[in-house]
Amino acid sequence: MTTISDAPSTPPQGNEWETAFYGAVTAQFARAADALELDDEARARLVQPRRTLTVNFPVRLDDGSVENFTGYRVQHTLTMGPTKGGLRYAPDVTMGECAALAMLMTWKCALLGLPYGGAKGGVRCDPARLSAAEVERVTRRYAAELIPVIGPNIDIPAPDVGTGAREMAWFYDTYSQAVGHAVPEIVTGKPAVLGGTEARQPATGLGVTYIIEDLLARFGWPLTEQRFVIQGFGNVGAVVAGELHRLGARVVGVADAGGGLASEDGLDIPALQRHVAAHSTVAGFAEADAIPGAAVLELPCDVLVPAAVEAQITAGNADRIDCRLIVEAANGPTTPEADHRLAERGIRVVPDVLANGGGVTVSYFEWVQSHQKYTWDVAEIQERLRHQLHVALNRILQAAERHDVDWRTAALTVAVDRVAQAARLRAVYP
Ligand code: NAD
Repeated sequence: MTTISDAPSTPPQGNEWETAFYGAVTAQFARAADALELDDEARARLVQPRRTLTVNFPVRLDDGSVENFTGYRVQHTLTMGPTKGGLRYAPDVTMGECAALAMLMTWKCALLGLPYGGAKGGVRCDPARLSAAEVERVTRRYAAELIPVIGPNIDIPAPDVGTGAREMAWFYDTYSQAVGHAVPEIVTGKPAVLGGTEARQPATGLGVTYIIEDLLARFGWPLTEQRFVIQGFGNVGAVVAGELHRLGARVVGVADAGGGLASEDGLDIPALQRHVAAHSTVAGFAEADAIPGAAVLELPCDVLVPAAVEAQITAGNADRIDCRLIVEAANGPTTPEADHRLAERGIRVVPDVLANGGGVTVSYFEWVQSHQKYTWDVAEIQERLRHQLHVALNRILQAAERHDVDWRTAALTVAVDRVAQAARLRAVYP
């Protein structure tokens, strides 16, 4: 028989979120805090997550057995308004990952001027191993477990890796059943017929394109004369490629997990999109040269758009990157060592917090519409998105000049300054 004293002991930490990833995110925060000469009290308030919740809950599987799942929800700061952030279903979800991503969400929302603190949550599971009915039961039970800490004015989840509109519909329904009436504003990224917005799916890719148009206009680089390379041809990359092509730009290289393509004259993106719809990969597209996927990052171009996964531009390839500007559509595609090397080589990087901020901005618009019970048309949403990103880009460029820092640090100084000011004004209760 196992007694309490036989049970494996864990170090008496208390700060279970302090993982390497969390450390990397707080190191970024520290750089911005240094540039702002933020005092120790303000740093201490922002460096730890305000609330961390772990839930362990049973779910009946299709074969009748019961499996226990672990889920998390981390709310980084309650200073700016309700918290907002995605739900991730993956086998390696940890509290540390949720805490790091929640802090990044705080900075992203603050930079974009959205009235939220950051949050993140997830369930440790492999959705590919679960049936749709099992995923539904996991989602509903996880939603029920979170009810004490979420609400349309408290914490508003959204899709992330391994979740989408389907899971948001179940989450919305579970919350609404619990409170006795429909509460569409409890989640964003829900299906359009349930109060979601048609504009959400392409929002991130559109936002990336708006930032590119805006920056190139400031630099005086005509868009139609630039060569673009895009890594990743999914929700984000395919929209960026389609929009750039529509605007008359030349996309000379793309890659996805299946391989890479190059074409000096520019790829026929609509034809490639049809190919991907039929074959689920860019590989095998006959009207371009096939190249190894990783080689795409090193193709000569003017603007490189990593839109796949994290840590693609590293110390190992940074010296071979052959472009003038990098626009980080993906989250964390550039490692800190590569960042340093790119800066030395004069290659400028538009950081992910701005470049892919279109997604959370349109989520915010969805939440506002759900609260108002009033639907804006897609053109209005896109116009507001373009404006919001333009204002955020202005803030970054001004901060970069004021503090003499790169755009990534500048973005964080804008965000951290905003949150620190709000914390100071709200002061300490009681
Ligand atoms: P997705 O799964 O739809 O697409 C990912 C694409 O990257 C696929 O084409 C895949 O084949 C490709 N890919 C994966 N590994 C690769 C590799 N090693 N080399 C080349 N290609 C590879 O995902 P998505 O929604 O397009 O997200 C892409 C990135 O953008 C992620 O970093 C995500 O966190 C970020 N992001 C997405 C959104 C959104 O609204 N979807 C919002 C903010 C940030």
